[in-house]
Amino acid sequence: MQLRRACLSHPNISVFETEVTELVQKGGEVLGVKTRTNTTDKERNVGEKKEKKEEAFFGQLTIVADGYASKFREPLLGKRPVVKSKFYALELIDCDFPPQFYGHVCIGDASVVLLYQIGSRETRALIDVPLDCEAASTKRGGVRGYIQNVVLPALPKSVQPSVVRALADGKIPKSMPNSWLPPTKQTATPGVLVLGDAHNMRHPLTGGGMTVAFNDVLVLSDLLSPEKVPSLSDHAAVASAMSTFHYRRKSLTSIINVLAQALYSLFAADDWQLRALQRGCFRYFQMGRTEEPVALMGGMMHRPLVLARHFFTVAFLAIWMNTVELCGGSVFGVLMLPVAVLQAVMILWKACVVFLPVFGTELW
Ligand SMILES: Cc1cc2nc3c(=O)[nH]c(=O)nc-3n(C[C@H](O)[C@H](O)[C@H](O)COP(=O)(O)OP(=O)(O)OC[C@H]3O[C@@H](n4cnc5c(N)ncnc54)[C@H](O)[C@@H]3O)c2cc1C
Repeated sequence: MQLRRACLSHPNISVFETEVTELVQKGGEVLGVKTRTNTTDKERNVGEKKEKKEEAFFGQLTIVADGYASKFREPLLGKRPVVKSKFYALELIDCDFPPQFYGHVCIGDASVVLLYQIGSRETRALIDVPLDCEAASTKRGGVRGYIQNVVLPALPKSVQPSVVRALADGKIPKSMPNSWLPPTKQTATPGVLVLGDAHNMRHPLTGGGMTVAFNDVLVLSDLLSPEKVPSLSDHAAVASAMSTFHYRRKSLTSIINVLAQALYSLFAADDWQLRALQRGCFRYFQMGRTEEPVALMGGMMHRPLVLARHFFTVAFLAIWMNTVELCGGSVFGVLMLPVAVLQAVMILWKACVVFLPVFGTELW
């Protein structure tokens, strides 16, 4: 709402609240949008029923930013997001958990649960439920059954009463898909761009979506500034700017995207190698190695290779912890060394499987 207020106060921006139904195209070029608007009470005479008013808006450049469920993404970019889980949201009232004013990630037998305060009495709980989760199947009570039987016991004792109260209405909590959509080059269709979640998405665990969106706007406002592109109807100049945009945004977005996907894999660990990496990750943070990871997550540091260094340091710490656990404690521990070496290779392999494919999609 604050962003909308900022836009509304800008002398150069006119705001129309309407639904875009289709893009207006001619000769392969996008000229604008067709819209459908509910007539307002003011526009109707007494007794007249609500109608949809059809209109069209034209411009030199149309920017599509219709969010995660974008209907223009596939025709323009030819891409579909991958969805492996959903976040179910509860609003907890008077939820008591220390330390206050920090975001919390709760991990137990359940997948990830995020808790963060959103008001003086309200706390948001986002409960990750994997799509193929057997414990959330209909015969096991569906999502509500999953929250009651698996999620609730994994939460801190002081949080549980407010979750029970939030579930008391008997409804299935509202949900949103957690999507992964690697960045793609812009559409080749002249006269249009696709931005925001319609263009690129990552798991919302790290809350990186707005950081990416703001950075994109910043990069774009420079590349499409009147000094660089005097007329937005110059499609060749816009296409060239967007080609630069694709690579220039990577120094930040690749970090946010890879971190979100890799941390989600570790936090929602569903095998022993991922659990070993998860323990390594927590130990790493407990050792005080937080400054650079937090700077990367917050979009303050734009060096993707620093992220790779931290991730693989965590992997080697996890291997070391696993080896000490297997071989330490007794003089016969050394007999376990071959098992420890085998497990070390398996943990390192898993770290590569988690990190490298996502990192790879960010390179070109
Ligand atoms: C559960 C969850 C939690 C998140 N938490 C965080 C967080 O803490 N921090 C963070 O930075 N990011 C977070 N994100 C990500 C963030 O919300 C998005 O990255 C960001 O909102 C993307 O902005 P957008 O403008 O591209 O899309 P949206 O914010 O989705 O906006 C798209 C808009 O387009 C409108 N629209 C859609 N179709 C049409 C149409 N045909 N005509 C007209 N209008 C249309 C929609 O109504 C909507 O208002 C979270 C995401 C999820 C799923």
